[in-house]
Amino acid sequence: MLDKTRQDWRSLAADLNIESRAFIDGQYQDAHSGETRATINPANGETLADVANCGVQDADRAVEIARATFESGVWSAMAPGDRKNVLVRWSELIEEHADEIALLECLDVGKPIADTTGVDVPSAVRTIRWSGEAIDKVYDQISPTPADCLALVQRLPLGVVAAIVPWNFPLSTTAWKLAPSLATGNSVILKPASNTPLSALRIAGLATEAGLPDGVLQVLPGPGGSLGRHLALHPDIDGLTFTGSTEVGKQLMQYSGQSNLKRTFLELGGKSPNIVFADANLEKAAALAAVAVFYNGGQTCTAGTRLIVENSIKEKFVEMVVAKSRDWMPGDPLDPATAMGPMIDAAQLKTVADYVDVGREEGASLMFGGKQVLADLGGCYHEPTIFDGVNNGMRIAQEEIFGPVMSVIGFKDAEEAVAIANDSIYGLAGAVWSNNINTAHKVAAAVRVGTMGINNYFGGDITVPFGGFKQSGNGRDKSMHAFDDYTELKTTWIEFDQDD
Ligand code: NAP
Repeated sequence: MLDKTRQDWRSLAADLNIESRAFIDGQYQDAHSGETRATINPANGETLADVANCGVQDADRAVEIARATFESGVWSAMAPGDRKNVLVRWSELIEEHADEIALLECLDVGKPIADTTGVDVPSAVRTIRWSGEAIDKVYDQISPTPADCLALVQRLPLGVVAAIVPWNFPLSTTAWKLAPSLATGNSVILKPASNTPLSALRIAGLATEAGLPDGVLQVLPGPGGSLGRHLALHPDIDGLTFTGSTEVGKQLMQYSGQSNLKRTFLELGGKSPNIVFADANLEKAAALAAVAVFYNGGQTCTAGTRLIVENSIKEKFVEMVVAKSRDWMPGDPLDPATAMGPMIDAAQLKTVADYVDVGREEGASLMFGGKQVLADLGGCYHEPTIFDGVNNGMRIAQEEIFGPVMSVIGFKDAEEAVAIANDSIYGLAGAVWSNNINTAHKVAAAVRVGTMGINNYFGGDITVPFGGFKQSGNGRDKSMHAFDDYTELKTTWIEFDQDD
């Protein structure tokens, strides 16, 4: 894939046939209202497609179809081994269309083509294949009852599930939601982010081609504040799975309480600590500190935005990170050499610029970056930016910026490093760097986050669960633990008649 040049990708982009209709009951179709909304390429501001803008009528119809399909048993009662075959075939079809889907994701999100070909598409393929392959290896339980009883403890699908996903990892988060919810037998309605609906729409058609029965999966693009809210309040949806901001996550919990107490699982924001001790492999730690915050333009829930460094090496280490940051100057996402693309849109670019002003006003020292660049390309590009001299009480250390902005904070000993790391409303991810196994393990155990790296950042794969402590959420994506979010436990207690 990376044998292609920027020109090759440009030619492929010019020939792309983009599917822009909603996907309901196994068919692509327009929104009931006929309305559309433009999806924009953040690299140059050009319209990629006018996408169906679904509303409450589309949602009600999709729920009705999903409910009927669930009750029919065509998928929910299908043998797990047969569901496996469909999901594995689906993963193969996505792989066969890898270049096309990677290109869609690159254009729609502004992600570098090297990332969409190397990370997003392979990760979605693996997630769907892995969940499919796992589902016919899951056993239920028989409890330890007296001899005249038999008690079955089974996991059954929730029913109709709504999945609402964000714009920063549209394909990956879609796969993280769809793979386990479909594997466990649910019918699903996915609402992609308004900015980035294209990859989800494309893979929905491939699911039908793989043998997924009509009506099991619907993809409805449309506004979160009306369509998303309607789904979250819907009395006939049994489960809601969400990835997005903590602010919207809090609203969704309320919608659940105001409607039918639908099971609601949330993957939310973060302000992750990346702790570096003086005895670490500093060369590797500096390179990964830059990856941790500049990958995907910092528009990553697990971004290591708080670099917490032992005072004795802080000055030297910041110089090393600044040197690494020069590799992250933004560029055209279609160029295979580009490491960082644009921000998703002008609003996000403004948020980043405003936080840079806040950092300056709070008295932090700007060590690198701090400006919008490449405005002539028509996109929303921002330099990788590093603030030193940050105090953990500052807004730039407490609030999720969701851009390429790093805050460097010093510490004197392990106790102080842990206290700073835990002084956050979030608890999604983090890392610690030390060549002393005792220090590394003690600190990793004490930091209250869902995923902690030791001498790595962004470590992990589909075999491990992913989710947050505190206000970073409550559910778990990935691994077999994700199956728990999409199933209910059912007990069947049987008593035998001793007279027979
Ligand atoms: P967002 O504003 O919360 O939106 C996420 C999704 O929710 C979008 O599809 C959005 O639709 C929809 N939505 C908005 N308001 C809604 C409402 N009232 N009811 C129902 N749905 C609603 O988040 P974002 O800006 O797209 O994404 C960035 C956030 O996601 C960051 O906070 C990031 O940390 C978090 N994130 C977390 C994880 C994780 O796994 N923990 C992973 C990735 C991202 P529209 O697009 O139409 O607004």
